[in-house]
Amino acid sequence: MAKEKIILTGDRPTGRLHIGHYVGSLRRRVELQNAGDYKKMFVFIADAQALTDNIDNPEKVRQNVIEVALDYLAAGLDPTKSTLFIQSQIPELCELSFYFMDLVTVSRLQRNPTVKTEIQMRNFETSIPVGFFTYPISQAADITAFKATTVPVGEDQEPMIEQTREIVRRFNYIYGETLVEPEILLPDNAACLRLPGTDGKAKMSKSLGNCIYLSDSADEVQKKIKSMYTDPNHLRVTDPGQIEGNTVFTYLDAFCRPEHFERYWNEYPNLDELKAHYQRGGLGDMKVKKFLNEIMQETLEPIRNRRKEFEKDIPAIYDMLKKGCATARETAAATLDEVRRSMKINYFDDVELIAEQAKRFSAE
Ligand code: ATP
Ligand code: MG
Repeated sequence: MAKEKIILTGDRPTGRLHIGHYVGSLRRRVELQNAGDYKKMFVFIADAQALTDNIDNPEKVRQNVIEVALDYLAAGLDPTKSTLFIQSQIPELCELSFYFMDLVTVSRLQRNPTVKTEIQMRNFETSIPVGFFTYPISQAADITAFKATTVPVGEDQEPMIEQTREIVRRFNYIYGETLVEPEILLPDNAACLRLPGTDGKAKMSKSLGNCIYLSDSADEVQKKIKSMYTDPNHLRVTDPGQIEGNTVFTYLDAFCRPEHFERYWNEYPNLDELKAHYQRGGLGDMKVKKFLNEIMQETLEPIRNRRKEFEKDIPAIYDMLKKGCATARETAAATLDEVRRSMKINYFDDVELIAEQAKRFSAE
């Protein structure tokens, strides 16, 4: 059963990947990949989607395609096990989006909570690009063209997957069982569902400039951790501190494992005891931040080092992506053949249709 899983996810090439991407989706993809618990795995760079809100900045998207590819490889995605590709190189995705547009109403798109928040975030006011407004439809095409069963993403993507499921149900109801309804795979650790930014804002996001990037240098990471948002009322070491909404503790929830205490801070047996001390008072932010820094350095160092290795042969990465695009395109093309057949727009390969029509006209 498990071997039937087809996994698909992607990221927008609007910047380098950060630790929010890592805990929200990337770490899970690598785990799934290495467990071999799937039939196929597709990971794509959503350049066409990135252009929907960066239409006047194609150079930014172009530059970041390779940055994201490097982050993928550095994090442990392996092109011999997963197909890595670039969205715009698969024209079948546009075709499928075009058909899906008839299955979704404008009001349904307007109600999509992610679209709502993202429109607000981008200050489009009344000039929302149609392509941006309809991106849940193109996302449905990305997922279904590969018959993905499982989509590992952060919580912000939940309404997107729900909308995809609706499109699939509607398509299959009208045209017959053709497409697969995907399931969302959320991180099982609550802190990873939507990792906050270093400024304490609700979501670490490239667009908000509150990120720790996977490729940040050791110094940059340390600096960012030092200036991180904690509990604004925890002024003196002796003051009781608050854990809720304290970003340093949220990051510890996301990254800290029992062995980190053995290695870096054996005064505490586990995170619960550390939290209890902080809440009682008598524990300063700097000590907790120092511990977090040790953990982040341990986590990020191998990623950073692998990235440096891959950076030495950039042409090889483009070559790998080109091969990935070819493989991905084959799969998408096969699905589109089925889609066209179900939608009765496969005129030329339908021998029966031609014979039937010939008979109809000869009888008249
Ligand atoms: P942009 O600001 O351009 O939208 P982003 O930082 O939101 O960029 P995306 O490329 O939109 O990143 O998201 C890629 C994947 O990473 C999605 O699965 C998303 O759910 C996940 N993700 C992004 N930010 C976070 C976060 N802070 N916590 C958990 N998951 C996240
Ligand atoms: Mg986003």
